[in-house]
Amino acid sequence: MLVAGAGPAGLLVAAELALAGVEVAVVDAAPRRSSHPRGFTLSARSLELLDRRGLAERFLAEGPVVPYGMFLPGVFLDLSAMDTDHPYTLGIAQNRVEELLEEWLAELGVRVRWGSEVVDFTQDDDGVDVVVGEDCWRVSYLVGCDGSRSTVRKRAGIAFPGVDATSYGLVADVEADFDALATGEVFVLPRPGYVRIVLEEPEPRSGPVELEYVQELLNARLGRVVPLGKPLWLSRFSDAARQAERYVHGRVILAGDAAHVHPPAGAVGVNVALADAMNLGWKLAATVSGRAPAGLLQTYHDERHPVGARVLRTTRAQSLLGREDLAPVRDLVAELNGKQLAELVTGLDTWYDPRIPGDHPLLGRLAPNLPVVVDGRPTTVSELLRPGRPVLLPDLGGVLIRPDGHVAWVADPATLTAALETWTGP
Ligand SMILES: Cc1cc2nc3c(=O)[nH]c(=O)nc-3n(C[C@H](O)[C@H](O)[C@H](O)COP(=O)(O)OP(=O)(O)OC[C@H]3O[C@@H](n4cnc5c(N)ncnc54)[C@H](O)[C@@H]3O)c2cc1C
Repeated sequence: MLVAGAGPAGLLVAAELALAGVEVAVVDAAPRRSSHPRGFTLSARSLELLDRRGLAERFLAEGPVVPYGMFLPGVFLDLSAMDTDHPYTLGIAQNRVEELLEEWLAELGVRVRWGSEVVDFTQDDDGVDVVVGEDCWRVSYLVGCDGSRSTVRKRAGIAFPGVDATSYGLVADVEADFDALATGEVFVLPRPGYVRIVLEEPEPRSGPVELEYVQELLNARLGRVVPLGKPLWLSRFSDAARQAERYVHGRVILAGDAAHVHPPAGAVGVNVALADAMNLGWKLAATVSGRAPAGLLQTYHDERHPVGARVLRTTRAQSLLGREDLAPVRDLVAELNGKQLAELVTGLDTWYDPRIPGDHPLLGRLAPNLPVVVDGRPTTVSELLRPGRPVLLPDLGGVLIRPDGHVAWVADPATLTAALETWTGP
């Protein structure tokens, strides 16, 4: 099994496979991990998922938590009353998220091979021949977690329909005087030793971003000069939104940004990538080891594609609401925003079709982390899920929980066999 890309998606998929005892290799084209972060947040749902593997504490030790999420600059969502063990957003640099996941993966016996690029591949009924650098590897499955410009997606010929960009922006992480910039005219974020500045670009441009150009745009926006110092990271983004037509194509699978790109509004990319990985890992592990029920792997596409489509729609709406002429709509949303919006943006309302009859409110949802007693020992649902295996809890009135923590069956003896056959195999 080969995972292309050691970003958040690739690292967590690989860890899930390794946890299930599957032999997996992870390659990344970059010579090493970037020490500079793109994103800075983990959502309540990501922390819930990490908790299901006993990892949340490591991440929570890294940064502050705030009891709100950002819907738009200036429009915040109150998370304090959310139905979760983690009613907050964790501030943590993306490169630290990746380092912690890479450590977890190393504890499971897998080391990332940096400087190894997936160049091409061909698949047949039994496996995939993958060209990695100058070598050719034969693997059972290839998981493309190789980011928005995914070679795996392109070489698989998977269509990537969506909408082209209509607005363009720059991210500049530079040494600068935060107070002089924080006057409300531009989006600025204080960071240790530098400032993140986000600027609109009047027209699309390509190629590397020059500091002089950023300074020019900034001067024009401010109507005065605030000198920018040493640049740490300069990059472009747009509001383009695209989604792979299929996430599973024979023995080639996509996850994270390789499967979907969307406007950066809402800062959810890492979180969606982790949720893709958590949904995929156990299904792929069961498939490759021959114990999966028929069609299990396809449910990864069936469950995550609609979630991805919803992320595209929400982030596009967030992006559009940033427009000046839509200020009244933005104000209206700010007034109405409540639990439903917070659940949507954090992904806490994620529901997967349980594929059995039943209308129990827990079916398809992430199982709450309830205390339970097993063989006389007090424990919790999260603790029981740590080995990444399904959990059947007769004492809770009868609940079957999938390895990713979602509820597959509740209490109805007539549907237990069907649920087991659907999710765990006969
Ligand atoms: C400015 C900015 C701010 C952001 N802020 C946030 C935020 O606050 N919160 C949040 O959740 N998200 C945020 N995001 C989004 C987030 O960074 C991405 O969605 C996330 O990194 C996606 O993870 P991934 O694992 O799918 O892909 P990536 O992190 O892009 O990882 C892909 C990996 O694949 C490797 N690779 C590429 N091609 C190949 C190949 N051919 N062979 C082998 N390896 C290859 C790359 O080197 C890379 O390491 C932000 C993004 C930007 C640009």
